Amino acid sequence: MLKKILSLAVLIISVCEGYGQSKQKKVLFVIVDGISGDVIEKIAKPNLDIICKAGGFTRAHVGGGKGTYSQTPTISAVGYNSLLTGTWVNKHNVWDNDIKDPNYQYWTIFRFFKEQYPHKRSAVFSTWLDNRTKLVGDGLPQTDGLRIDYPFDGFELDTIHFPHDKQSEYIHLIDEKVVDQAATYIRTDSPDLSWVYLEYTDDMGHKYGDSEQFHKAIGIMDDQMGRLYRAIEYRQKSFQEDWLIVITTDHGRAPNTGKGHGGQSDRERDTWIVTNAKDLNTHFKEKKGSFTPAIVDIMPTVARHLDVTIPKEQAFELDGVSLTGKISVDQPEIKKEGNKIYLTWNALTKDEKVKIWLSTTNHFEKGERDLYLLMDDVPVENRKAELDVSKLPPGFFKVVIEGKHNSVNRWIVEK
Ligand SMILES: [Zn+2]
Repeated sequence: MLKKILSLAVLIISVCEGYGQSKQKKVLFVIVDGISGDVIEKIAKPNLDIICKAGGFTRAHVGGGKGTYSQTPTISAVGYNSLLTGTWVNKHNVWDNDIKDPNYQYWTIFRFFKEQYPHKRSAVFSTWLDNRTKLVGDGLPQTDGLRIDYPFDGFELDTIHFPHDKQSEYIHLIDEKVVDQAATYIRTDSPDLSWVYLEYTDDMGHKYGDSEQFHKAIGIMDDQMGRLYRAIEYRQKSFQEDWLIVITTDHGRAPNTGKGHGGQSDRERDTWIVTNAKDLNTHFKEKKGSFTPAIVDIMPTVARHLDVTIPKEQAFELDGVSLTGKISVDQPEIKKEGNKIYLTWNALTKDEKVKIWLSTTNHFEKGERDLYLLMDDVPVENRKAELDVSKLPPGFFKVVIEGKHNSVNRWIVEK
């Protein structure tokens, strides 16, 4: 009898292993504050290296389209919200750390996820409360009462347990508490979608600039990432879960001293992404000219891993492109001369057609619909299209290139 039970158990286990695709998908994304790409590349980071080996490393950027309608301040909350919504500031409307009036029409990854999978569980582990209460909009009417299932944050307001000191030691201690709880909770409860936010590196950057102290803070961060990754590895080994971890930063640092940020210098725009993702695509890997992936690419990557379907009109607004899996098109460029709009793009597939859509309104930002005109339907490999807009009102054009695997968009905003 025992033998029979044992062989049945073996059968069940091997059947389960045979269905690799039924593995539960989980995501943890992490923002470690204010570490420019040049610094992360030159510093020892043994734990991040382990994660890179499983997936990859790329330099990346924040700041939107420099000198264009989507130029975005290289400021913390602005960057976080670009990650959460997959859009630049001209859409999500968080211009600084005051977070006065986020446009919640541009949904965060948490909202998309919980809308489609209300019973799956989300968590935010953060050294800054506003991330959850203002950016994610936990419990707000504007997010239709979206709930984060497991919040772990707000300790920066607790001056009894974390008395504020000038050296920001209390921020380091809060980061530690946040990481410890995230690692523990992942091991025991395995939330489906989690965000960890840590602040200490940026504090050291502001205080000391490019310095021993700043580099030491990055070393501490690397150790913290190791703790999170080991929790994920434990879940993967013991529970056969399929975890995606994405680690990034929200902005670089000022060119000369490394102290400030907020502007559009190369170094302030220069960031990076570390991930364990297995199926990284050309959009992640391609190093053509000055092209790098962007912080807005993380949201569609997370959505793809979690099998979140983004409805077409919302997908049309995304400024990011998934870093994994199949992609039809990226790197669109747009210009208008006279009555013509000239579009170009990079083709990442063959044998498919892309549709070129155009709207002269942006009602989406108010939660209403835009009327899109189908302007063209061309082979993706054409890599360009010319749109005659002589019969359309001037001023504003929202153009979408829709492929089989993704869409990209660009605006023309005339003064
Ligand atoms: Zn920051």
